[in-house]
Amino acid sequence: MALTLKDPSLLATKAYINGEWVDSDDGSTFDVLNPATGELIAKVASCGGAEARRAIEAANAAQPAWAKRTAKERADILHRWADLIVENADDLAVIMTVEQGKILAEAKGEVVYSASFITWFAEEGRRVYGDVIPTNANDRRLIAIKQPVGVVAAITPWNFPAAMLTRKAGPALAVGCTFIMKPAKETPLSANALCVLAERAGIPKGVVNLVCGSSASAIGNELTGNPLVRKVTFTGSTPVGKLLLAQSAQTVKKVSMELGGNAPVIVFDDADLDRAVAGAAAAKYRNAGQTCICANRILVQDTIYDAFVEKFSKVVAGYKVGNGLEKGIHIGPLIHEKAAADVIGMVDDAVKDGAKVAVGGKRHALGGAFLEPTVLTDVNPSMRVFREEIFGPVAPVFKFSSEEEAIRMANDTEFGLAAYLYTGNMGRAFRVSEGIEYGMVGINETAISSEVIPFGGVKESGLGREGSKYGVDDYLEIKLLCLGGL
Ligand code: ADP
Repeated sequence: MALTLKDPSLLATKAYINGEWVDSDDGSTFDVLNPATGELIAKVASCGGAEARRAIEAANAAQPAWAKRTAKERADILHRWADLIVENADDLAVIMTVEQGKILAEAKGEVVYSASFITWFAEEGRRVYGDVIPTNANDRRLIAIKQPVGVVAAITPWNFPAAMLTRKAGPALAVGCTFIMKPAKETPLSANALCVLAERAGIPKGVVNLVCGSSASAIGNELTGNPLVRKVTFTGSTPVGKLLLAQSAQTVKKVSMELGGNAPVIVFDDADLDRAVAGAAAAKYRNAGQTCICANRILVQDTIYDAFVEKFSKVVAGYKVGNGLEKGIHIGPLIHEKAAADVIGMVDDAVKDGAKVAVGGKRHALGGAFLEPTVLTDVNPSMRVFREEIFGPVAPVFKFSSEEEAIRMANDTEFGLAAYLYTGNMGRAFRVSEGIEYGMVGINETAISSEVIPFGGVKESGLGREGSKYGVDDYLEIKLLCLGGL
């Protein structure tokens, strides 16, 4: 096994149900592969609907006692969990890099970021206040209290294997919900390691459960169909999100959806060009271009187009591609070879329609899931690189001439997650921010994510917000107490 950990017990490969590490019912497993080398890292218990049902029943049985604890008691346990994650950050980062591919520095950054959600929500959970409502009749009093929704099922993607889980588990557990996680089959080991630490932190049995398997739909059908689950929280693609929404409608579950994006970076000619180049490059090539808030379309005013492309291309041409465990690497492999083939297909289609390759444009010499970081010019809005989420290290640079055209192009998509704009003009910053249909706007800044901000999208990018003071709302129900006859 190509994995050396200070604490080998963090490498867990079974399912975690009701506080027990268990094999799948039929003993089957699925393979987890290292996207950089193609090597087998681990064989993980391949669960289906029956195991998911047991996890749901365990979570349902554990929920009343967990909800009865004080918020402070839950917070103390969550703080221990967050501390353990930070203490084990080096091992967790290695696990993440070998199963996901991102470079080690980014993996370590994600591990610490993932702990920040638990810490944040441990505290937010202590500040879930209700209301005393001015009464509508003198013989009655009105009070609104907030209660946990109950059993929560989380389905998460492979691009942020730890943070997407804790952004959901943090608020759920802090307010008294119990939790079942179904990580992506590409990256179950990070999730399993989090469960090892959850157990060590003293999270009671049944409060956190994990099932993963080679068939996502077998587990997904149970999680969305079982009436004991009161909330489904999902991060992933828009098509799967729509499917889960439809499935959850059958039992009218609460839902949170963090779906795809198609983020524009709009660069006006009054911007600080160097800052715009650095921001756009960081937002494009982080995690090899595999984040839902990655710069997908770089829109540059025609007067500075050539200057931008020249500077941007120089930065991108300097990026070193390789195995994320090695030193000096900027960009790791994509999640698997098929993902690399899909992204190159989009580049080829653009080139066929007249795009020019300023940098890269091909599979990397390392082969497999590695791609050359790529910059495309002479692109237009009819191309797939404009219309679709690229999810790879490819930056198409489009031209616009006026503020109105920039806003129109930015909004010309069914997505509305993150957008970025660079300008030195304060009035324009407000006009454009207010005119574009996005859940998050970075102004002269692309590093916007943190546990303190409300993360989420509009249009087909999703429902609900994660992180910030708003991130607990989706895990709470409001109950009215009307006291009469007073
Ligand atoms: P990505 O393109 O990032 O792989 P997906 O939406 O396919 O995005 O996957 C995100 C998560 O959704 C993963 O955990 C995946 O296993 C899960 N998933 C995919 N299809 C289904 C389904 N039919 N039911 C439940 N979960 C699913």
